Amino acid sequence: MKGALRWLVLALAQWWAVAAAWADELPIFDTHVHYSYPAWREYPPTQVIELLRRNGVPRALVSSSPDDGTVMLYEQDPERVLPVLRPYHGQVSPGNWFDAAAVPGYLEGRLRRPIYHGIGEFHLYDPENADAEVVRRTIEMANRRGLFLHVHSDAEAVRRIFALAPKSRILWAHAGLSEPPAVIDEMLARYPNLSTEISIREQEIAPGGVLDPTWRALFLRYADRLMIGSDTYVNWRWRNYTSIMAFNRAWLKQLPEEVAAAIAHGNARRLFGRTSR
Ligand SMILES: [Zn+2]
Repeated sequence: MKGALRWLVLALAQWWAVAAAWADELPIFDTHVHYSYPAWREYPPTQVIELLRRNGVPRALVSSSPDDGTVMLYEQDPERVLPVLRPYHGQVSPGNWFDAAAVPGYLEGRLRRPIYHGIGEFHLYDPENADAEVVRRTIEMANRRGLFLHVHSDAEAVRRIFALAPKSRILWAHAGLSEPPAVIDEMLARYPNLSTEISIREQEIAPGGVLDPTWRALFLRYADRLMIGSDTYVNWRWRNYTSIMAFNRAWLKQLPEEVAAAIAHGNARRLFGRTSR
């Protein structure tokens, strides 16, 4: 009996070690990276790529204000960096891009370089702006080229985009940021071309590091549609990049292994393979 018990303890210890190693090594496809102007000096491209590598991030969707930041990172590591084109540059910002007549021409021009996988992340703080002429043209442009849209908005703006162009592929930033899991569930059930990433919501998903049961149910139900993002929109997110990723791995570890792998990297690999070529 004693022998059997010792064996069981040893087997459990080994299992824990394997499980812990699995979580540490779990690659993460980061679907929400920005490398905007204020980061360039403090974090040169070589350093950012090294930070991604060290954190087990083999792929990242990157968009920046202005887009030159994305191009710099892409040129540093074209394998790891998947460019996404943002409309913001010069005076064009989250608060006015939908009204800026120059935006469609700007996007068309940049898209001539066939490196982009999507258009975004762009903001639609007021869902009514989803119907603006510039936004319509942006959506058409993406759909014509098979690019996805990375949209920071509430559920209503996403509904409007799908009403306008049902074949759009949308990556919903921050899972709607303030939309509750019930609304995220309803949206994913209704729109098969909608996927979403949970950046900025880590603490809400796992308060004190423990996966919340409502979120857990959502991850299990839509294991093929949810993804991880860091959202390095300001330098302190870069400064905390390692702890953000460690925190994400810690709650991912509380999900079944295949679900965690899908959310950490499998879904993004499947969904974002294409470029504007
Ligand atoms: Zn955002």
